[in-house]
Amino acid sequence: MSKDKKMALVTGGSRGIGRAVCIELARAGYHVIVNYASNSAAAEETVSSCEEAGGSAEYCGFDVSNSEEVSRAFSELKSAHGSLAVLVNNAGIAKDGLLLRLKDQDWDRTLDVNLKGAFLCSREAAKLMVKARNGSIVNISSVVAEMGNPGQAPYCASKAGLIGLTRSMARELASRGITVNAITPGFIKTDMTDALGESLKEEHLKAIPLGRYGEPREVASLVRFLCSGDARYITGQVIGINGGMYM
Ligand code: NAD
Repeated sequence: MSKDKKMALVTGGSRGIGRAVCIELARAGYHVIVNYASNSAAAEETVSSCEEAGGSAEYCGFDVSNSEEVSRAFSELKSAHGSLAVLVNNAGIAKDGLLLRLKDQDWDRTLDVNLKGAFLCSREAAKLMVKARNGSIVNISSVVAEMGNPGQAPYCASKAGLIGLTRSMARELASRGITVNAITPGFIKTDMTDALGESLKEEHLKAIPLGRYGEPREVASLVRFLCSGDARYITGQVIGINGGMYM
């Protein structure tokens, strides 16, 4: 039951890191709103996993890069639940290619989903959080925002932009009791990293001092901490979770 629970919205929550974050927040007692772009069956599975973990959840489909869809979803959320305690901007895509071959539309789509999407959702979430004078926003950036990566110019640019967005929002919203932080995961085992070829995966592994890929639940527990009462003095920070590959 969602009554009397704090609300948490996780974008791109139907699989991977987003799904692990949904389950972790549900377990921590939030009523979780699982956003998905197109795969409602996968979002339903996330809802079931949240319930199996002893929590409650519902799903809500919208494209984070579409301003009208985002404002409609937030106005429905406001009518149904009245408030939002946590927003996790997790939805992301990677359209990779070498600079000389990149197409305009690959650049635009990556920036639209990864950066504009976080802006649109944060703007709507902030309206609800400012009223409550409380809230946590966590942006899922990437270690490649800090290091760069050949063949990933749009992805790296979008994730680096997310860090600037995080720090600006943190400064603007601090006086209202809202914290805004970014997490920069390294290589985490999900569909996104499964898509890399075996030789590339082995090469990446050599660059990780802890000698393994991260698990989605390890990112999820950092998100849970940043949203908790124990982290109210942490804002505007960029926190790495990368097995030591960038330090
Ligand atoms: P994933 O591809 O499994 O998940 C991304 C999710 O975003 C999917 O559920 C997808 O449907 C959703 N999404 C995509 N476009 C959307 C849109 N327009 N509107 C709403 N949802 C949309 O990838 P993942 O590995 O779980 O990555 C989650 C986040 O973590 C991403 O932002 C990614 O860039 C970031 N990240 C991942 C890694 C990694 O190693 N896996 C490392 C660093 C950062």
